[in-house]
Amino acid sequence: MGSVVLIVINTTGLTLDQLADAWRHVHDASAADEADPLVLDCARRLAADPGGEQAHVWVSGLVAMSGYLAWRPGQAAEGAALDALRAAAKALGDQPCAHDSHPYEAETGLLEDEIWRGDNGLLTGALAGPVLCPQNVAGWARLAVDVIAPFTVRRIPAGAPKYHHSRIRSLSGIVNDYPYVDPHEELIDEATCLPDRPTRGVLAGYLVTMNATCWYAASERITDRAVLDAMIKGVEAAVPLLGDGPCTHSPGEHPDTRDPDYTNQAGYLLRSPGGRAEIAEYYGWDEEDEDDQEDEPLDAWVCPAFLHDLADETLAALTAGLRSFEAAGAAAEG
Ligand SMILES: [Zn+2]
Ligand SMILES: [Zn+2]
Repeated sequence: MGSVVLIVINTTGLTLDQLADAWRHVHDASAADEADPLVLDCARRLAADPGGEQAHVWVSGLVAMSGYLAWRPGQAAEGAALDALRAAAKALGDQPCAHDSHPYEAETGLLEDEIWRGDNGLLTGALAGPVLCPQNVAGWARLAVDVIAPFTVRRIPAGAPKYHHSRIRSLSGIVNDYPYVDPHEELIDEATCLPDRPTRGVLAGYLVTMNATCWYAASERITDRAVLDAMIKGVEAAVPLLGDGPCTHSPGEHPDTRDPDYTNQAGYLLRSPGGRAEIAEYYGWDEEDEDDQEDEPLDAWVCPAFLHDLADETLAALTAGLRSFEAAGAAAEG
């Protein structure tokens, strides 16, 4: 901790422009010893006055660094960022205002998990406008919490990006056995689309989609083994990214994935804040009641233990499919 504290003191000597520049350079592949001090510094300033006039500056910093925070940040940095963002969402979220809507709400229909891309205006917005309205700042704080720790925050406007809904439609043709596009190409595209350092939501979504489609890939409907090879390779590469975080659920709390059509929808809805809000709506989460403990523990969708089991099941189906494929080939040759 000693060296971390020293660097934190150093960063306070930076001007806001210099700090903002440093935040923009923090990304998923940043080294912890460079990124954690910036996160801790920013979170400390936000936590000191989470409903204050400067809160939008520090929220913007944590949003800018959320790509790093959603991958493998230091534990202390992650905890501090989440606490500060939650405190800001609480302190700012209920302040009355005269606006009918706020810019962050429009964003959720467009946004994948990469909320750190693009300009949310929090550093440059006009003081009187809706961009710096406390409710808009609170909205961004909630989006950042949801990207870093999916399903732990409420009041995210429902609506996955259009592209994700179009993926759900194409894939639903496949999982319901009436594909209207070439399933070979479609499944190979899906299998090879996982980024190197996905957010927890994107990684979970990928594995859930692979599970929803594996029965089809392993069936005799697939005539090119490249599909099976790509899916097996993709799932095998995804599993080590899960980490070994503990399972906090009771037996039976992991999602039911027996219906491939529903599982397919969840696969893409998991990959964005607005999509996860659609899942929450489906399960009847009470949007207004942040302390409601009665609702379904939806964070089970991103639980590493659940996803490890799901990946095992997927790999078993795909491997069995590959074996029948090889056996059929051998029979044809013989
Ligand atoms: Zn407002
Ligand atoms: Zn679990």
